[in-house]
Amino acid sequence: MSTTATAIRTFDYLEGYAAIEDEIVAAVREVLRSGSLILGPRVAQFEEHFADFLGGGHAVGVGNGTDALAIALRALDVGPNDEVITVANTAIPTVSAIRMTGALPVFCDIDPQTWLIDLSRVEECITPQTKAIVPVHLYGNAVDMPRLMQLAAHHGLSVVEDCAQSCGTTWQGRATGTFGDVGCFSFYPTKNLGAYGDGGCCVTRNKALAGRMRRMRMYGCAAPNDCRGEGVNSRLDELQAAILDVKLQHLSDYLERRRAIGAWYREHLPSSVRMPLVADEVDASYHLFVLASGQREKLMRHLSAAEIGSAIHYPTPIHRAPGYQFLGYGPGSLPVTERLAGEILTLPCYPELPYEAVRRVCSVIDDALAQ
Ligand SMILES: *Cc1c(COP(=O)(O)O)cnc(C)c1O
Repeated sequence: MSTTATAIRTFDYLEGYAAIEDEIVAAVREVLRSGSLILGPRVAQFEEHFADFLGGGHAVGVGNGTDALAIALRALDVGPNDEVITVANTAIPTVSAIRMTGALPVFCDIDPQTWLIDLSRVEECITPQTKAIVPVHLYGNAVDMPRLMQLAAHHGLSVVEDCAQSCGTTWQGRATGTFGDVGCFSFYPTKNLGAYGDGGCCVTRNKALAGRMRRMRMYGCAAPNDCRGEGVNSRLDELQAAILDVKLQHLSDYLERRRAIGAWYREHLPSSVRMPLVADEVDASYHLFVLASGQREKLMRHLSAAEIGSAIHYPTPIHRAPGYQFLGYGPGSLPVTERLAGEILTLPCYPELPYEAVRRVCSVIDDALAQ
């Protein structure tokens, strides 16, 4: 008799929600009874707590992670005629945000070991139009920020860190998002700190810059009808802020679980699959657990047959997406990025995923590769 194993999803928030439902519902009820729904005390409080969690600075809550990046870039005076260096193996929004400023994204290839921006190739991408660099701490790993900041300072460039996947990741104990001019976070439900809806945040140590971003999220206004510059409407709302404040209290537990899952995968996956190098200085947060294999399609077939979810982050590097052909990057223009895109595979990873599930995923992969 065979026992039917339960399906394993790549991501599931319901179990995590059930564990804190009482706290969440109480927080939501309090907001609804408070009479304040937009830019009230809960956003301010969450901003303070989130900045503290990262080790200081000013946090500015915004509508989502894409807006966080666009607002940060605009506050740093990035606009049309400027170029912004980033990578093509990222979520589309990294590039959408750059385009929202009118600037042109310039793609740097990635390091074959870390799968992150190749710092030895950044200088080749710099032109007189270059204004900023957007490193992406993909999958919860971290770019060598001390080295990147040195390079940026040498060339007079601004740095906006895309921390949408690296909330809680540190480099030599210091949080990602606190090295660059601005660190941008997403609170999309799947992220390490996920809202129950959209949300995002810009973090900076520069008080004047924080003020600019604060105005920019509200039509450029310092107070109602006190317009100091151009802006947008992109606010973190009181409900999501209250929810995030509850979840922030559990974040170190969530991160601990993600790190354990990352370690289990690394221990039990067969040596024939590749995994991104995590530098000694990095404490990765394992937002996504991603491997690379020349036999990806076979692995996906076997996982799916065993009712195990898997995904690809991301199947098409941005420079090869139909929507970005106007940038003019042909096939082969970013060889490391393109090769990897054909081999990466994302395995289930979320705080409530039990050890037995990770073992089952690994054994299915083991069996598939043995065939
Ligand atoms: C999720 C994500 C974003 C965008 O965040 P949203 O809140 O969905 O706008 C940006 N960059 C990366 C790398 C992401 O993973």
